[in-house]
Amino acid sequence: MSGFAAHPPASVVRVSGPLVEIEGLGDVHQSDVVEVGERHALGEIVALHGDVAAAQMYEYMGGTGPGAPAWAPGGPLALPLGPGLLGGIFDGLLRPLRLAPDFLETGGTPSLGEARAWHFTPAVERGARVEAGTTLGTVQETAALLHHVLVPPGLVGAVEEVAPEGEYGTDDVIATVGGRALTLTQRWPVRRPRPVRGRLPGDVPLRTGQRVVDLLFPLARGSTAAVPGGFGTGKTVLLQQIAKWCDARVIVYVGCGERGNEMADLLEDFPALQDPRTGRSLMERTVIVVNTSNMPVMAREASIYTGITVAEFYRDMGYDTVVVADSTSRWAQALRESATRTGELPAEEGYPAGLASALSAFYERAGRVRTLGGEDASTTIIGAVSPAGGDKSEPVTSHTQRFVRCFWSLDSALASARHYPTVSWSESFSRDAEALAAWHAGQGDPGWAGRRARLMRLLGEADALQSMVQLLGLQALPDHERVTLLGARLIREGVLQQNALSDADAYSSPQKERALVEA
Ligand code: ADP
Ligand code: MG
Repeated sequence: MSGFAAHPPASVVRVSGPLVEIEGLGDVHQSDVVEVGERHALGEIVALHGDVAAAQMYEYMGGTGPGAPAWAPGGPLALPLGPGLLGGIFDGLLRPLRLAPDFLETGGTPSLGEARAWHFTPAVERGARVEAGTTLGTVQETAALLHHVLVPPGLVGAVEEVAPEGEYGTDDVIATVGGRALTLTQRWPVRRPRPVRGRLPGDVPLRTGQRVVDLLFPLARGSTAAVPGGFGTGKTVLLQQIAKWCDARVIVYVGCGERGNEMADLLEDFPALQDPRTGRSLMERTVIVVNTSNMPVMAREASIYTGITVAEFYRDMGYDTVVVADSTSRWAQALRESATRTGELPAEEGYPAGLASALSAFYERAGRVRTLGGEDASTTIIGAVSPAGGDKSEPVTSHTQRFVRCFWSLDSALASARHYPTVSWSESFSRDAEALAAWHAGQGDPGWAGRRARLMRLLGEADALQSMVQLLGLQALPDHERVTLLGARLIREGVLQQNALSDADAYSSPQKERALVEA
């Protein structure tokens, strides 16, 4: 990334924590990236006054003082995308993280991991007319996924050169199209959604393997879900279960501001797991982006966009992708901290006035789409929300609730009863259920919607009866109501509960699910 600093070095005039003032950057804009000091630490311009640019840095700036050199490579934060992402663990700027001995070790400029060669097979011939989204060739990125090297958005033209089948590094030119040399890697500004040809209806289920979700509050491919819950209610376990077992082709797991040891567990756990459908390591379809709470605020803020951009990149190849973000509340806190530092006026509970639009812009990047290449593909977003003290009326939870299609509200009473997952049947919803009922009917299961309605009704009736029992005792209930209570208990214990730690039950197949419900 560095090395293309064409403008003569500008210099730092002032440093104040993560805010750095730079003079002499020339023609720069709000949100452009800057590089500061001999290490080329990265940051982003947050304010401009005449020739002085104030930049918020993504990293720790200890040791930097006035006079340090600075550069503006041009444009907003853009990251290299290409083969080498799958199976990788990165920070919010896609810099590879090393797990041990120092788990958080990172730095330098974004790159796609260790230099290695990829076996490229061309799919077009010289002279062919191609346009954005056309597959120029393929690379077997992992055993689980064939990587399509696409003509990037905005480009149309004739193939002037295409490399013969062989081994190439990520920066080698593999084709020249319309006068532009293309490599296996392409940069994309992470805050901008990657373009598609059009949107498709969200009426195909994404199976999560979690019965309470798939049966009661199902999610469509390309849809959005939020998982709000107080501390210890099981948000992280639920998200990790979904990341492991859902039937998407690529999973991007964004660990945003969560505790470092939690991420370390995930990193140890994942590589050992097998995909129940392919028998291959789940890491082969997974990209992990991590920011722990001790990383700088800007890096935490960027990580969400980085994660979704990676997912869109694979979506554009025609794959169903899922972004799991744990937790969007830590991300919102990063927004709040950076707004405070740059002097933005706070709105509700100290969050910047732009909180709602930032959340909505994030969830809007989900969708089932027709890609530029004409494929049917999707990006589904699932975000945990961790309201302080479990108070779900706070701004992040309440705004999120408006923007998502599924809301899996975790209940601390269920957590105390050790009923896991703790998804509440009375406070959760799925706006996808109706469209998915039609899909199931189309697949020869017209009874799907009826079974779901029966389960919901029984659970609701039992909850109402339960309060009577508390008042009057079980003896006061007529027999048929006792049967209702018993039925609901069987459903809660036999169907909805699912132990994430059990090998037999961590993942539930559709057949098993249906058999349990009918029983
Ligand atoms: P949160 O992220 O909401 O703070 P966690 O996901 O870390 O909570 O869950 C806290 C604990 O609850 C876990 O360490 C585990 O013991 C238990 N737990 C949560 N979900 C399950 C589950 N599906 N099966 C078994 N135990 C669970
Ligand atoms: Mg957690």
